[in-house]
Amino acid sequence: MTPYINADLHCHSIVSDGTLTPEVLAQRAKANGVELWALTDHDEIGGQDRAIEAARLAGLRYLTGAEISVTFAGTTVHIVGLGMDHTHPALVNGLRATRGGREMRARAMSDDLARVGIPGVYDGALKYVDNPELISRTHFARYLVEAGVCKETNEVFRKYITEGKPGFVPHRWASLRDAVGWITESGGVAIIAHPGRYKLTANEEYALFTEFKTLGGQGVEVMTGAHGQADYVKYADYCQEFDLAASRGSDFHSPEESHTDLGKLPFLPGSVTPVWELLESRIH
Ligand code: AMP
Ligand code: MN
Ligand code: MN
Ligand code: MN
Repeated sequence: MTPYINADLHCHSIVSDGTLTPEVLAQRAKANGVELWALTDHDEIGGQDRAIEAARLAGLRYLTGAEISVTFAGTTVHIVGLGMDHTHPALVNGLRATRGGREMRARAMSDDLARVGIPGVYDGALKYVDNPELISRTHFARYLVEAGVCKETNEVFRKYITEGKPGFVPHRWASLRDAVGWITESGGVAIIAHPGRYKLTANEEYALFTEFKTLGGQGVEVMTGAHGQADYVKYADYCQEFDLAASRGSDFHSPEESHTDLGKLPFLPGSVTPVWELLESRIH
């Protein structure tokens, strides 16, 4: 299959930290010219049946998806899975277990923020949460904007809830081995999400790609909302170096917050194998 199709294989709905429903996302993707779509909520496949049906109604080809939070070399790395059987017990149980830590982390974040003079953040954030199993830092950020603590969600991350800031609570997510295992056991393809975003040294990044390959990972996001021109070139080169397929996804969360809308990315370069070539039999 050609790399030159408008595939958007990374976005979020209200089932995790997006603000739109799977149905509205499907319509928006269609309106923006997307031809192949995947909904990839954080650590959650609860929106997949709705997305499959909405894609069918909109006349969109669809791949199942999820974005799994992983702890690697002391930082958080995201692994996107595409084309899984989203009812497979290995995936369902693994994701349920990894979601389990979010509630405690959220309460600890709220306690820490109360200590620096910002009370009631847990209850405030909950107003933005649709899925009680998936309270995210994004929900905290939305509440702190509402409360007038910051002007926009980016500023909340920068000042309060990233590493070293008063509301940041370190968290142990899934291992790289588990995340890749859940995806491949359930028939999907594992992909390193937005590699240009991580604060890894060159050695750590090399270790990530090498270990990922050894564990059965098959793809890397080349075109994503978080990448610039230099990242496009760098990670297209990594596709050759590590023999990985390339993916394309906006990481769209919300019309108000996201810079890159569904389907609004450059095409993949002609030099790479697109991940959809590995996933033809998994397309709905
Ligand atoms: P969590 O999984 O709860 O730790 O939240 C991670 C989510 O926060 C990511 O998926 C992004 O949607 C969002 N996020 C992370 N960093 C930033 C940032 N600097 N600005 C805005 N959103 C961010
Ligand atoms: Mn997110
Ligand atoms: Mn991510
Ligand atoms: Mn994402």
